[in-house]
Amino acid sequence: MATIDGLPPLREVLRTHDLVAKKSLGQNFLLDLNLTAKIARSAGDLSGADVLEIGPGPGGLTRGLLAEGARKVLAIEKDSRCLPALAEIAAAYPGRLEVINGDALEVDPLAHLTPPIKVAANLPYNVGTELLVRWLTPKDWPPFWDSLTLMFQREVAERIVAQPGSKHYGRLAILAQWRAEAKIVMSLPPEAFTPAPKVHSAVVHLRALPEPRYPAKAATLSRIVAAGFNQRRKMLRASLKGVAPDIEAKLDAAGIAPTERAERVTLEQFCRLARIVDGQE
Ligand code: SAM
Repeated sequence: MATIDGLPPLREVLRTHDLVAKKSLGQNFLLDLNLTAKIARSAGDLSGADVLEIGPGPGGLTRGLLAEGARKVLAIEKDSRCLPALAEIAAAYPGRLEVINGDALEVDPLAHLTPPIKVAANLPYNVGTELLVRWLTPKDWPPFWDSLTLMFQREVAERIVAQPGSKHYGRLAILAQWRAEAKIVMSLPPEAFTPAPKVHSAVVHLRALPEPRYPAKAATLSRIVAAGFNQRRKMLRASLKGVAPDIEAKLDAAGIAPTERAERVTLEQFCRLARIVDGQE
């Protein structure tokens, strides 16, 4: 039976192209087109935007993104076995889907895209986290993307949106929330995927802010946050000793008790401390 886009159901696509999921590529496919449409909608209004999709696999989310009106989808997929299935989608949406067979950690997609650009992906978790960190730490801000809509292991999603005082609060939360608005927009049980992974998943939506929430030099903030959370059980006067001379006085000036631990310090306080360390306050 054909589906709404005239293409075959995804289970049939997997059979036709003999796409048996490979563990080594982190392949857990989404085969429910209602669900992939819902994820595509959580990326916001796609009309008039180019979408960078990483790891399209058999193309469930790709079809959702195109059906939701993306101007163009650029999909980077490492597994060449997926190319014939993706070519069928490209034929159903003429001129709107470009596929690059390659490793998303190596390929530079920017030459193929026109702003505004949104990113959407259901990726293996390790690749997803590495790409997220890259996308959050470009040389210049604002970045090339307006928003990121990404599937993560639920625990990683919690780390992205965590607030001070939570056990999930750490570098990833600071990195994500300093220059973006981050929220969990959907939770998915293991059974939503084929094959089912061991853990629950969640979709995180990040919207780039035009400016950082609080001024600070990225390198200084990153150094402070790394040192603070590397030894998260230690008091900041000890964990930040190597960051700057006279760190106790600087913590005091930033309104942070030197006996405090990193997991209770707000983003605003970390940024203030970074400015003080840089002599900007
Ligand atoms: N997006 C599809 C879906 O939702 O059904 C597939 C999701 S599956 C979790 C991850 C996909 O990413 C697989 O198709 C896999 O081949 C691809 N992949 C894994 N590592 C990759 C990499 N480094 N670069 C590009 N694609 C990659």
